[in-house]
Amino acid sequence: MLAPFEGLRFKYLKADRYNSFFHPNFCHVCKFWSSEVNMISCYNCDMIAYCCERHMIVDQKQHVDICNAIKKLIREGKMRNFHEGTREEWLNCKKECVRVVEQELARSLLFHEEQMLLFAKSCHVCYKETSLKTCPLCLSVNYCEDHKQNVGPHKCAALQTWLATEIQAVKVSPNPPRQFKFINFPNANYPIATMNSFYDRYIRCSRSLKTWTFPDFIHSDYLSGPLTLYDCTRDPNVLQIPNTEYTYIIHIIATSHFDRLYLRSWEIFLHVFIKPTKLVVIMVGPNLQEECEAPDICKLKCKNFGHTFHFLSHRMLYHDYVNSSLYRKPDVIIRFHVELADGETWAQFLAALEVSSCPLVITAESNIKAQEYRSKIGDFSKQAMPIIDQIYITQVDQTTIAQVLMYDCI
Ligand SMILES: [Zn+2]
Ligand SMILES: [Zn+2]
Ligand SMILES: [Zn+2]
Ligand SMILES: [Zn+2]
Ligand SMILES: [Zn+2]
Repeated sequence: MLAPFEGLRFKYLKADRYNSFFHPNFCHVCKFWSSEVNMISCYNCDMIAYCCERHMIVDQKQHVDICNAIKKLIREGKMRNFHEGTREEWLNCKKECVRVVEQELARSLLFHEEQMLLFAKSCHVCYKETSLKTCPLCLSVNYCEDHKQNVGPHKCAALQTWLATEIQAVKVSPNPPRQFKFINFPNANYPIATMNSFYDRYIRCSRSLKTWTFPDFIHSDYLSGPLTLYDCTRDPNVLQIPNTEYTYIIHIIATSHFDRLYLRSWEIFLHVFIKPTKLVVIMVGPNLQEECEAPDICKLKCKNFGHTFHFLSHRMLYHDYVNSSLYRKPDVIIRFHVELADGETWAQFLAALEVSSCPLVITAESNIKAQEYRSKIGDFSKQAMPIIDQIYITQVDQTTIAQVLMYDCI
């Protein structure tokens, strides 16, 4: 059976698009992979693959800086190859690699550069990094000589779906086309119950779910954050929209790079406020860059009304942020797909929440997961905290191989 990725190739991707995803087995420039073509690994660092010399040259200008740093560190013995050990030891080793490379370059790594170091191929069982074979279906799980019999027990189908989604997403800009300004959103006469009804009302594609194309799924994923929060405001016992001029602060505990990628989607949440509002989105996570900017907002519903939008991000774990001088008290805390980061415990996370004592919105990928999180939080937290679990439902698009998480109300 062929992997669903066989022979796929994207032409004319610009660097900002192809850098949005890194995988050690795919050509970094055109996301090509084939069982019949041997990829060329970078001659210098051996950490990034290309389908041809031409694509290696295309990427050279961007890659040369980190490539030379890696080569120098290997020569000096400061970046070791991992030999064998537990997952935790391997992860610590990879994080140490990120740290020494950042020190060498005197800057934080870009998303794809960090992925390059963290996604270095290793055996699924012992984490050894040499003489590896790759699962021919999901292309994401590797085995060493000693463990090649074990190629069975891994989440192969889920990994295939994940990879297909990530690769398709490289092609599509997450920001919906400019004409989708959501000027009429929200409108009390047209309540939205599902993402599909939101689409019908505000994007007017009037297509049934069966005919959604891949960009529709990406855009629905993009909008799912602010719409989840909007859904919470419909019950004032859960989340209140202030009726005076106000600085509204949202903390987003960033668990994936999509949180940052979808930043501009939060503009739509400004449309919910009834008085001029300064919306401050603060993202906190160990994989973010330190940033501060004022993202673009629409003229008609935002600028003319006196709304403003500010964004800050901090590269640290949430409990460290809460105890730092950077901390600003939020009106709501959001964590999509609650997964603890490395080096973070539930006790630390929940203690950090108590400092803010404000509503927490978490999402989970299934009902079962949501229950699990709820009971974990219940066990730790003595204080009753309003917790809203909006559930993400997975829908399979008939027309593509991809499966994307999308927002829906239950
Ligand atoms: Zn290529
Ligand atoms: Zn290189
Ligand atoms: Zn092994
Ligand atoms: Zn597999
Ligand atoms: Zn606007």
